[in-house]
Amino acid sequence: MTPISFEFYPPKSDEQRAQLDRTAARLKAHGPEYVSCTFGAGGSTLSYTGDTVRGLIDAHGLDAAPHLSCVGGTRDEIAALLQTYRDAGCRRIVALRGDLPSGMGQPGEFRHAADLVAFIRAAHGDHFHIEVACYPETHPQAEDALTDLRHFKTKVDAGANGAITQYFYNADAYFRFVDDARAAGVEVPIVPGIMPISNFTQLRRFSEACGAEIPRWVAKRMVAYGDDAESVRKLGTDVVAGLCRRLVDGGAPGLHFYTLNLARPTIAVLDQLG
Ligand code: FAD
Repeated sequence: MTPISFEFYPPKSDEQRAQLDRTAARLKAHGPEYVSCTFGAGGSTLSYTGDTVRGLIDAHGLDAAPHLSCVGGTRDEIAALLQTYRDAGCRRIVALRGDLPSGMGQPGEFRHAADLVAFIRAAHGDHFHIEVACYPETHPQAEDALTDLRHFKTKVDAGANGAITQYFYNADAYFRFVDDARAAGVEVPIVPGIMPISNFTQLRRFSEACGAEIPRWVAKRMVAYGDDAESVRKLGTDVVAGLCRRLVDGGAPGLHFYTLNLARPTIAVLDQLG
């Protein structure tokens, strides 16, 4: 069976915390290999990520991996966070550069995710399984696709065990990216990041920011459905389940779902996949 993992974001209110608890309980029934929890840009959810990860481990018995983005942080801050995560029982980290919101300070002592990966390895040896991010449709700030691929390889060479992709809806972009990465000497598993579709307006905003392409025919239909949430959900589930099936049939080593703390869209896809 293809291993699956689920990504959550750190809740900030009691209502959001209750929602994540319900979602984690429902998704746990689907047997994830691990779950992960995002890290706010510029350190804004620094403590929320740690608290959320501890809750996922202690209250839900899940293997939970904090995301750690290094761009605004100092070596001392990152070292302290890593120790906290180690003390909490974490064995897995998603290591990122992150993005500083415009106008919010300068990059700190780490410039690229590769620097963070090297720092974690130097400080903790093989204690942590390290996942990094990669971009089948190219990172939006990259000079070009090949330069981006070279930077991805540098990150893996610094000590990453695996990679999770930015979400995409074009399976060919993933397969070509994996082929290119293998040709460049990257051997670690490259797990597709999957974004279920439930709110198209929100998805379109995210996609513009992160450079993920929504196929024109999907966008056109979604716009035509407007407020018809049932039709949006149905097409979204069909499109994403079809993508997952192609990826798994084509050899993807796992599926990592961006849940946005909602159980239903991810479960609808898993149910359709059987
Ligand atoms: P890097 O690998 O450092 O790459 C960033 C850019 O710099 C790329 O364009 C790359 O080509 C370039 N680059 C890399 N090395 C060099 C070099 N040596 N010289 C010149 N250029 C270089 N963001 C959050 O804030 N919190 C999260 O929790 C979070 N989780 C994510 C999880 C996944 C799976 C993914 C795919 C993304 C996530 N992001 C998150 C978004 C991520 O932080 C942004 O995409 C960010 O812009 C890049 O992070 P990175 O780790 O890929 O950076």
